[in-house]
Amino acid sequence: MARLGSWIKAEPEGIYVEPADAWIDPSQPKARAWVTHGHSDHARGGHGAVLATPETLAIMETRYGPQSGQPIAYDETIRVGEVDVRFVPAGHVLGSAQIVMEHRGERIVVSGDYKRRPDPTCACFVPVPCDVFITEATFGLPVFRHPDTGSEIDRLLHRLHSDPSRCVLVGAYALGKAQRIITELRARGHHDPIYFHGAIERLNQLYESFGVELGELRHTATATKQEMAGHVVIAPPGALNDRWSRRLPDPVTAMASGWMRIRQRARQRNVELPLIISDHADWDELTTTIRELAPTEVWITHGREEALKHWCMTHQIKACELNLVGYEDEDD
Ligand SMILES: [Zn+2]
Ligand SMILES: [Zn+2]
Repeated sequence: MARLGSWIKAEPEGIYVEPADAWIDPSQPKARAWVTHGHSDHARGGHGAVLATPETLAIMETRYGPQSGQPIAYDETIRVGEVDVRFVPAGHVLGSAQIVMEHRGERIVVSGDYKRRPDPTCACFVPVPCDVFITEATFGLPVFRHPDTGSEIDRLLHRLHSDPSRCVLVGAYALGKAQRIITELRARGHHDPIYFHGAIERLNQLYESFGVELGELRHTATATKQEMAGHVVIAPPGALNDRWSRRLPDPVTAMASGWMRIRQRARQRNVELPLIISDHADWDELTTTIRELAPTEVWITHGREEALKHWCMTHQIKACELNLVGYEDEDD
């Protein structure tokens, strides 16, 4: 019997699926790419053919122009070469998927980026038991335990209502996090207009075109300082300390990210109101998922692999690290 998963090769530029001659989330242009989700470190331009969910393809087209894409719906199985491949929800951002592959009686699941807690903007993670689980580990340390999202949103609203002469400026990654913060605010009963930085406009529209309701949104460029007082403003993290923010009424600077658990990171960005809201699994979500899937082997990628590897070993699960390059932790 050959080594488990011997038909999958972890190369520096991505995961190569030999019997399908396909690459998963390659960092270099490839003839055939299977893309888990639209974040730019996973979905790059320039591939020959792209297999992805319709949402991910739409995101890629917004960013890179027309793709020679083949859409695959969640749970549809197709055969490529000698591999049966299926995309199932990963709960990370709109259209995000885990890739489930079967070949010679072995099932391998590539998680892509994922989280387990509910997110109103995308389908929930679906656990698929497998022989080999290839997991991300962005927050693969026991110190990373994300609090309840609703209570973080309540802290934001409390701060907003405590001084109506100021605005709360929330730094949030443009794809996924920004739209999630908006829908979480709506879910907490906040129906006032929300102002946005121009850089997230197209993605807001894309989310709405797939049925995600964002409520009343207004572009900051067409608003006066006075109008924005007492309101939430959403911008990509890069805009927080930029000249652009001078147009805002005395902003309380907030940032929504799993990294806000680390005080140092909040200070580096001059964040007054750190919100621990992440689109990645925290330590408990990672370990719960591995327990639930009960794989024979776990292969760990982008993140803090060491601690999770150790956890697997102490739970009698074989584990190893894959050293892939080109993944950033911006989409947190
Ligand atoms: Zn991502
Ligand atoms: Zn990632």
